[in-house]
Amino acid sequence: MYSILKAVHQRRIIGSHLALAALLSGMALYLRSDFQHERQRLIDETGQMALHRSELISRAFGDTFLITDYVLRDVLGRIDPRHDLSYPTRDAAQARRLKTLLAEKAGTVTGLADLALLDENCLFVAVSHRDVEGRKSIQSFCEARRVAPGEALHFEYMPAERSHSRRPVLLMSRTLGLADGRLQGAAMAVIDLDIAQRWLEGVRTDSNAVMALLDREGTLLARNPPLPATRASDPALAARRAELAQRGHGVFQTAATEDGRLRVAGVSPVGRLPFVAAVGYDLETALRGWHYRRLQFMVGFLVLSGLSFLALRIYLITLAQREKLRLQASTDPLTGAANRRAFQRSGQAEIARAQRHGHALSLLMVDIDKFKLVNDSWGHPTGDRVIQALATTIQSLCRGHDLCGRLGGEEFAILLPQSDLAGAAAMAERLRVAVQGVTDVRSDGGQEVRFTISLGAATLHGQDDKLDALLQRADRALYQAKETGRNRVVLEQA
Ligand code: GH3
Ligand code: MG
Ligand code: MG
Repeated sequence: MYSILKAVHQRRIIGSHLALAALLSGMALYLRSDFQHERQRLIDETGQMALHRSELISRAFGDTFLITDYVLRDVLGRIDPRHDLSYPTRDAAQARRLKTLLAEKAGTVTGLADLALLDENCLFVAVSHRDVEGRKSIQSFCEARRVAPGEALHFEYMPAERSHSRRPVLLMSRTLGLADGRLQGAAMAVIDLDIAQRWLEGVRTDSNAVMALLDREGTLLARNPPLPATRASDPALAARRAELAQRGHGVFQTAATEDGRLRVAGVSPVGRLPFVAAVGYDLETALRGWHYRRLQFMVGFLVLSGLSFLALRIYLITLAQREKLRLQASTDPLTGAANRRAFQRSGQAEIARAQRHGHALSLLMVDIDKFKLVNDSWGHPTGDRVIQALATTIQSLCRGHDLCGRLGGEEFAILLPQSDLAGAAAMAERLRVAVQGVTDVRSDGGQEVRFTISLGAATLHGQDDKLDALLQRADRALYQAKETGRNRVVLEQA
């Protein structure tokens, strides 16, 4: 009986723990996917912010380039290309006039280090600030000295080591071509990238954010925060910058960058010019709050899981104890059979069921013969073992729905649903013979103790509605069995 209870309890422990584990796993999966969505949302939002900021920066630089181009056009409009785009100049007056014009125009745009006019051979005709007249410009279009139609605007980055001023500059030139495509001359602006750099550094950003102006080849023209020259010229990083610059417009996640951090970058083209503005927000910084919240949830979830398992454990222990107590209250501790009270309760229910369905129901009363003698001869503990052996034998012959109860002492009752008197008699006889054959009971001294039983059988009649009536009839039959010599089965009188 207790072993069945134990097995049920064991199954319940495993089942409920599995169910709780499944529930908690489901919750964990849901939370995980929710956090993943939240993370993606934050990354997308950060990307949009970066894109927006890059658009603002590109507009600011675009304006500078536009104004510079106005100045170049203005200068070209104010000279006579046929006479003024030729080195050396005719006379000192012409040289002065041109230099004054250039100096005056250069002053109208901040960041313009110099304005110059170039002749058909790319020799400096006049320069606003520095005296490099007669020297040759090293811009790429100067090699062919030809101008493709519609390609009047040229940009060229000069790193500090190649620049005349020994500062990194951006050369912006507007060329004039002759009818046959030969270069006639050009106006050129030297844009000081230090100023662009300072401007960019003046824009406030979050810590670990990066803003940069790049040309389409990925050359870094300005960056906030500034980058050490060694990192700027690292070929692997330059290749990655070029790739970023060539995408032109959009949001990207960049792998480890110049400072080894992951960033979400927004890139915008500077008008139709070959430059892009890029803004990268540090992924870790953007997700700091998210990481913190996730940690809080994880700790909370672990605590919740622990408490859930603890609560389940307490519940199961309480349940098992309650069931054990209930079982103890209804079973006989010596044999594990139902005690008198439990037997009477179940027996009454069986009678009601049998009457409802019109089924037969029979009852056997079993009593050990001369049991006092067993006790007297071998002692009380041996008597107990005999009682246990009888209970075991009864259980081995009972069907699943038969009910055995110990009514007291060495007296048992067996309820046999769906058995008529003949069936009960057969069962009684089987039991009587089986008990006769029990050889495994030993006295305290190790001697074999044999015993016999007497049985009385009764069956349910139409008018019966009480278990006691059935018990009384079976008891009378048992008395007869005792009277007529014991170790026998007697059926109730019809
Ligand atoms: P009979 O053949 O007429 O039944 O003779 P009997 O000696 O068996 O007589 P009876 O049934 O009246 O004897 C019951 C005895 O069972 C009395 C009591 O000492 C003993 N007994 C009752 N309960 C227990 C028990 O739990 N353990 C043991 N060892 N003996 C018990
Ligand atoms: Mg007896
Ligand atoms: Mg008795």
